[in-house]
Amino acid sequence: MRRTVFNEDHEAFRETIRAFIEAEVVPVYDDWFAAGQAPRDFYYKLAELGVFGIRVDEEFGGAGIDSYKFEAVIYEETARAGISFGGSGVHVLLGLPYIKLLASDEQKKRYLPKFVSGEEMWAIAMTEPGTGSDLAGMKTTAKLSEDGTHYVLNGAKTFITGGVHADRMIVCARTAAPTAEDRRHGISLFVVDTKAEGYSVGRKLDKLGLKTSDTAELAFVDVKVPVEDLMGEENKGFG
Ligand SMILES: Cc1cc2nc3c(=O)[nH]c(=O)nc-3n(C[C@H](O)[C@H](O)[C@H](O)COP(=O)(O)OP(=O)(O)OC[C@H]3O[C@@H](n4cnc5c(N)ncnc54)[C@H](O)[C@@H]3O)c2cc1C
Repeated sequence: MRRTVFNEDHEAFRETIRAFIEAEVVPVYDDWFAAGQAPRDFYYKLAELGVFGIRVDEEFGGAGIDSYKFEAVIYEETARAGISFGGSGVHVLLGLPYIKLLASDEQKKRYLPKFVSGEEMWAIAMTEPGTGSDLAGMKTTAKLSEDGTHYVLNGAKTFITGGVHADRMIVCARTAAPTAEDRRHGISLFVVDTKAEGYSVGRKLDKLGLKTSDTAELAFVDVKVPVEDLMGEENKGFG
């Protein structure tokens, strides 16, 4: 059977990705597997290939392509070789939709160029030691400072894919108590600089599978998050 979903641009991209995997991943994959993660430098190589900017607008350094087909090619080729690109999947597949949907124009200008260049790897932290499926039960809090310039973040997260290497973490936290009618009310999303004081990465968790995808515990002790890094509407983050 002949597929018609991919055109010659996709097939040329496939050749590039296949050669890249053979040169840059296959020879070192056992080491990544043993280490439980891909090295941070590898993500710069992916960025150079243009992998992070496929669906990012050209004004922010991306290719501005409104299609998942190039990403489908990547997943076909990694599956074919029996390898993965580490924890980088969450950068584009989870991080980017949040930025595209919720970030202001000012935030997009600040976040996206570094997102595309791989200078800042993104991940998302929702799950907590006591809160998985029941996300509305999260305990991490973000309190607005008296002068209104920043939020103060306190709490812990676990099972966070890409958590070891992330430079920007979308952290879900309570900014208000739930209401009697809606337990989901009061959760907000913050784009947290992982180098901020009080932000720490705990254990890298061992897993049965997904061995090269780093999965981490995170802790926040009085982490200051500038108000400019609230993403989307305050208290409406659950949606
Ligand atoms: C490899 C891996 C990567 C992950 N990456 C991320 C990440 O990047 N960011 C992030 O925030 N989180 C991440 N997670 C966490 C993931 O989102 C949670 O594991 C998931 O939400 C389930 O939560 P839990 O593990 O606490 O299980 P629980 O919520 O405790 O559930 C345990 C079991 O009980 C069942 N259950 C729960 N509630 C009910 C109910 N009301 N009725 C019936 N059955 C129920 C569940 O189906 C499940 O079988 C990751 C997890 C894994 C394993």
